[in-house]
Amino acid sequence: MNAAWRNAHNFSGGPGAMPQVVLDQMAQAMLEVPEVGLSILGISHRSDWFRAVVDEAQQILRALLGAGDDWEVLFLQGGASLQFSMALTNLGCAQNTPVDWVRGGYWSAKAMAEAASVCAPRCVWDGETNGYRELPQWSGLDLRGAGILHYISNETVEGLQFRMAPPCVPARLVVCDMSSDFLSRPVNIESHDVIYAHAQKNIGPAGVTVVLVRKALLDRPPALGLPRLLDWRVHAKAGSIYNTPPVAAIYTMLLVLRWLRDEIGDLERMAHINAAKAAAVYAALDANPDVYAPHAQAAWRSQVNVAFGLADPARGASLRRALTDAGISGLDGHRSLGGFRASLYDAVTLEAAQNLAAVLRDWAQ
Ligand code: PMP
Repeated sequence: MNAAWRNAHNFSGGPGAMPQVVLDQMAQAMLEVPEVGLSILGISHRSDWFRAVVDEAQQILRALLGAGDDWEVLFLQGGASLQFSMALTNLGCAQNTPVDWVRGGYWSAKAMAEAASVCAPRCVWDGETNGYRELPQWSGLDLRGAGILHYISNETVEGLQFRMAPPCVPARLVVCDMSSDFLSRPVNIESHDVIYAHAQKNIGPAGVTVVLVRKALLDRPPALGLPRLLDWRVHAKAGSIYNTPPVAAIYTMLLVLRWLRDEIGDLERMAHINAAKAAAVYAALDANPDVYAPHAQAAWRSQVNVAFGLADPARGASLRRALTDAGISGLDGHRSLGGFRASLYDAVTLEAAQNLAAVLRDWAQ
């Protein structure tokens, strides 16, 4: 089994699989970015070349998402975790500002705890009592009031995914952490006011986080005393090059975005491939109900993270061995849940998902 096979069969929860063509380009870029003649690790963030990299990445993102000029696109550091609080301080929240929170899984709970340091999150739905196996129907929640709603479109740990964005309500801002399913399917951009996603699942390596925010919101005053480095306005004004950004990570992200545009086509097409990948893996689990125990209720199953346990957990070591023998990696479940999780991010091919499904079927027999 060569490296290309193993990289293609990397089902890690993130950082995870990358398109082979991007790995090849980055191998070259480590030594020399062709049009610059320098290693990607040694190119100044103040160069015209890097300014063009940022501009092009922002432009492809806008085109893929259908985000017009009324949206600001930022490339920031600090991961998605920093946005748990930074998004709210930038929207002007103070300690006592209520923010409606959908607590749908491990990451929503973490986000809510973090946000509590800068606002007053109010849980409108809590999935913990049910072991985070389902998400709410939007119509079942009381979301009529003004204010802010925060939700996570795809719960990475438990493998739960909303099928639809929340309904639009006048004067209500919708903030979404889209880290694990960003660019894995079309996004209803009009239903959102802020979308943030770190790169290390679908669109690149760790180190850069994308924030999309409606420009009109940047006219609002942020929370009092917000440090400049945590102010979206400062980064927007500097075109995401305020201080030294992660040059190599942003360049890699650009290569992934080009791949998505040129090799895949658009987000409809990406969603179509991702649905086929998920269908293959879930079918292998469902065909062996006495062996596998998928975590999510069927209606909420994620197309990107397939979390499952074994009816007999003592056989886990045997399955791990079978996966390793097949050159498959990254299937360990999150440390909070245990079991297994196959992450089917954009760079995981349909063929790789089908190979995984075949190993799961064979082992179950
Ligand atoms: N949100 C979601 C949905 C996640 O899956 C994760 C990590 N896997 C995070 C936030 C935390 O991201 P980071 O490590 O970039 O802070």
